[in-house]
Amino acid sequence: MKKLSLLLLLCLASQACQTQPRPRNVIFMIGDGMGPAYTTGYRYYKDNPQTEIVETTVFDRLLVGTASTYPDDDTYVTDSAASATALATGVKSYNGAIGIDAAHQPLDSLLKHAKRQGKDTAIVVTSEINHATPASFVAHNESRRNKDAIADHFIDNKIDGRPMVDLLLGGGQQYFARSDRNLLQEFENFGYQSGNNIQQLQELTQLPAIGLFADTGLPRAIDSDTPQRLSNMTEKALRLLQKSNNKSGFFLMIEGSQIDWCGHANDIACAMHEMDDFARSIEVVEKFIQDNPDTLLVVTADHSTGGLSLAATKDYRWQTDIVSMQKRSLAAFIGLLNEDADLATLWQENFGYPLEPQDLAALQENMNDRRALYDTAVKVSSKYSNTGWTTSGHDAVDVQVFASGKGHELFRGFQDNTMISQRILLLMDGKPL
Ligand SMILES: [Zn+2]
Repeated sequence: MKKLSLLLLLCLASQACQTQPRPRNVIFMIGDGMGPAYTTGYRYYKDNPQTEIVETTVFDRLLVGTASTYPDDDTYVTDSAASATALATGVKSYNGAIGIDAAHQPLDSLLKHAKRQGKDTAIVVTSEINHATPASFVAHNESRRNKDAIADHFIDNKIDGRPMVDLLLGGGQQYFARSDRNLLQEFENFGYQSGNNIQQLQELTQLPAIGLFADTGLPRAIDSDTPQRLSNMTEKALRLLQKSNNKSGFFLMIEGSQIDWCGHANDIACAMHEMDDFARSIEVVEKFIQDNPDTLLVVTADHSTGGLSLAATKDYRWQTDIVSMQKRSLAAFIGLLNEDADLATLWQENFGYPLEPQDLAALQENMNDRRALYDTAVKVSSKYSNTGWTTSGHDAVDVQVFASGKGHELFRGFQDNTMISQRILLLMDGKPL
């Protein structure tokens, strides 16, 4: 008893008791547009119909809390730029802002802080790598639309004379290899290995490296020959970061970028394929944490997209069998249609079930108006699976927070999205909350 109180006194005197566990590695994963209906939908989509129970997913295993996402204006509905700025810097901003506050002052990001601490830094996405979410960790711009200027910051915002990010995997060649400036060449001049085809992923053997595998975003998972491209890139990133063996550890940001894009497109099968690749990536990280417990993983979303609901009429059903049978995205399906197309046959081939006569007629009526044809295809396909969409934009519902590894307890319960970033920062600094 005496010994214990002596230890307690020593501990209080040294302040060791009050410091937080300091993770060596920090992995921050963002499912763009991944509101609660997406993780719920994913659970049912993955359910094994042969068993009585509904199997849980990686999201169910790691759930710790929720977060509000409202931007620094009076709309409550955030875009990806304002939310990414909040998640990257801990400060709210206006919709469209990249790494700056409402007064247009540049904000330091978690990634920049990690680099200053001597950590290796990495970004892995399926969008162009200068898209709003990854951009907010590196660049400062008054508008997410200034894509060339934002790409420039990936080279121009240096720490100790070198680019801030040691590993970049994603898309966006057209913004990095431009006629006015070849940023890829500039990265190579800094000693970066580079690759421009996802098949070359295995040829990247050490940091620093940049792999941009498409002109803009990577192909949608549902339409891709390599649907597990995010999980493959995640594995690669962890291998390279481990090989680098930096004594200060690493900061890795991974984005499931296109969950949002499928949500904007109101295409549930497209969204579930993106969710699957994102979930697999989280499982890759989960395994890494088992072997490297000195790692913090935080997963969240920047907002929800589409007002997705898992039922649309008074019918009490949401049909994952219909969702699972869809072979390509609605956009890719519309791309197949020309004047001579046999619509009924093509639908059966790509969706796995026949169209009812009134749905066939509705689609045929709009064959000459691509926009109207797309909207009709959304309505028709949503009707069969009984999926609901209220908007082709974002909605204001809270998102979930998932965490694992060292310090994950800090993210329990409700928090604002700025608090997620602030808490990661406190953990990185080993400071008390
Ligand atoms: Zn969006």
